[in-house]
Amino acid sequence: MSFLDTVLQPPSYGWQDSNGDLVKPSPKQIFGEFFSRLNVFKDKKNWLSFLCWFTVLALVPFFFLFLFKYLSVKTLLAAFFYSMIVMGTHGTIWHHRYCTHNAYQFRNKFWRFFTQNLTLKIIPEEIYAVSHHVHHAKSDTPGDPYNAQGGFLYCFLADVNHQPINKNLSEKDYAKCVNLMKHIGVSVNTYEQYQKWGSLAKPLNTIVGIILNWSFWFGAFYLIGGIPLAVALFAAAGFWAVGVRTFNYEGHGKGEDKRREGVDYNRDDMSINQIWPGIVAGEWHNNHHLYPKSARSGFKPYQVDSAWYYIKFMHTIGAVSTYHDSKKQFYKDYLKAHATEKEATVAELRVPKATTLVAERI
Ligand SMILES: [Zn+2]
Ligand SMILES: [Zn+2]
Repeated sequence: MSFLDTVLQPPSYGWQDSNGDLVKPSPKQIFGEFFSRLNVFKDKKNWLSFLCWFTVLALVPFFFLFLFKYLSVKTLLAAFFYSMIVMGTHGTIWHHRYCTHNAYQFRNKFWRFFTQNLTLKIIPEEIYAVSHHVHHAKSDTPGDPYNAQGGFLYCFLADVNHQPINKNLSEKDYAKCVNLMKHIGVSVNTYEQYQKWGSLAKPLNTIVGIILNWSFWFGAFYLIGGIPLAVALFAAAGFWAVGVRTFNYEGHGKGEDKRREGVDYNRDDMSINQIWPGIVAGEWHNNHHLYPKSARSGFKPYQVDSAWYYIKFMHTIGAVSTYHDSKKQFYKDYLKAHATEKEATVAELRVPKATTLVAERI
């Protein structure tokens, strides 16, 4: 068994059955697992999962205040923009391309901190990054933490049921986990502290980090647009935090093969390029599975990539020192190869015609 086979805490229903097929838990089993893993009174090692949903819950009052007290055309537009574009793009820039794939490097710690805190802090880095390595290693097979074939709920509640790190890692494997997170700059537990808390993240640092981040942004939004704007954008962040959990299910075709010829070139898994997540957050997911370490995923002219524009801009001003960009490689590997294949097919079709003509003349 490799490190990525055991780094995540297996759900009580297991990843696969005795035939090696994916276990598809019933909604009852999924909810049972979900609530048992949120129970911090049963086991304090559940604290990080609890925190994930507590932050969402803490944003619910803002959502209702926004809907019933501060709803206007202006605040609605601001909330839409913040939720879809700002939060979405930041998820791609920070959690996806930096924390997991290390697709670019910051010049210094200041720019890393700046980018990390560019929006409301909601998803702990550890929950996203470690499990996302497993997702790439096992896409659409048993053990994939958000295997779309497991169904909507299987993916929607994955941050609690399938993404937390294993609570019984050996010291050696825990060190490997620490290594995966090293470049992110989150201060992590020692092995002894991990045995107590079950996580890489330190509870106090994490909670204080969130409180400071939220206070800063509430103050900043208030100064820009008063209480209505602050409430609208906090509501928008909550809306995003729930909505983003649907992405992994849809980004892999909802458990079906939705890959399209000439759009989704990667055939190794069920990931697809979708217009909406692509346009608002640069998540051209099939392209991304082709070149996971690329700081750009929008390769074709219509595939706008706001996350890439940020990274490129940061590079231009010197905040990002290096990045990988696989656009040229994509054109070389797929579009040119595709065009040559087409030409070859056309040539093959022409040959018999020419031969027939010659035969007729004879
Ligand atoms: Zn994927
Ligand atoms: Zn990825």
